[in-house]
Amino acid sequence: MNEFNLIQRYFASSNIARKDVIIGIGDDAAITQVPENQLLATTTDTLVEGVHFLAGTKASDIAHKAISVNLSDLAAMGAEPSWISLSLSLPEANETWLQQFSDKLIELSDYYSVQLIGGDTVKGPLSITITAQGIVPPQSILTRSGANAGDWIFVTGCLGDAGAGLDILLGKLEVSDSAAREYLVNRHSCPSARVLAGTTLRRLATSCIDISDGLLQDLQHVMRASSTGAIIHLEKLPISEQLGTNVTDLKQALAYATTAGDDYELLFTVSEEHRTSVLTALDNYGIDYANIGMMTGAVGKVDLRLDDKPYELEVSNAAGYLHF
Ligand SMILES: [Mg+2]
Repeated sequence: MNEFNLIQRYFASSNIARKDVIIGIGDDAAITQVPENQLLATTTDTLVEGVHFLAGTKASDIAHKAISVNLSDLAAMGAEPSWISLSLSLPEANETWLQQFSDKLIELSDYYSVQLIGGDTVKGPLSITITAQGIVPPQSILTRSGANAGDWIFVTGCLGDAGAGLDILLGKLEVSDSAAREYLVNRHSCPSARVLAGTTLRRLATSCIDISDGLLQDLQHVMRASSTGAIIHLEKLPISEQLGTNVTDLKQALAYATTAGDDYELLFTVSEEHRTSVLTALDNYGIDYANIGMMTGAVGKVDLRLDDKPYELEVSNAAGYLHF
């Protein structure tokens, strides 16, 4: 099967036909219309088998993750997703795989109202690159660089679930309760992008980032970009019941919640002035959030506290031990 047939056959059947897509799949390039007075946000992410997902991962889960990681980056900028394009490297044109992959890709792009506007397939090691584009009004852009000392630090959802899910798949964490196991593995395999939270935070949050590399890593990106420090109250971290009750102790739960990646929740900062408006807006949309600390003037320093006492975090990961 040639490349044109692959893209046409598997990926052109979406129900979404956005008015801003002038020319979609099928010509040499897509032509899209950016609305007047809006800016274009563009992000791209590649998932490689054995690096970003385990060999043998279901095609539908790979599609789920590929879409979510990209839309999560748009969400973190306050952008509303519009279009995606796909570059697929496949060892062989396996029709079952392609059907499952494209079904999920189309299901989720329909869900988020994004249109697939182009694609390319090559023969090679299994790897998926998605480029996602979205629109955002100029004054509504969220960045990593706007946090100020004294701003409150919030996160959406729960932290650490995806890391625990990965450890379950790797046989490093045993969870006997099957419902909890399924929940945690699903949070790793099929993360959601916090698109609604991102647009809700427009003009309200002073900074925003999606948590892809773990809370502390991503918090440090905000600190660096904003020239600030942070104090984190670990007892306030949102830890799911499924994670909290299935690890050995609080120390292990905190290690997952602070250092494990792939949760794709949003971390954002809010000034005292806008705090009530932000929380009302998030409550209105039923978005879960937790206030976990405050930005400080101690540039580059993360002050970890547990019940107001200094906390030494010691975490083993693939790169050795990280000390904070
Ligand atoms: Mg990101």
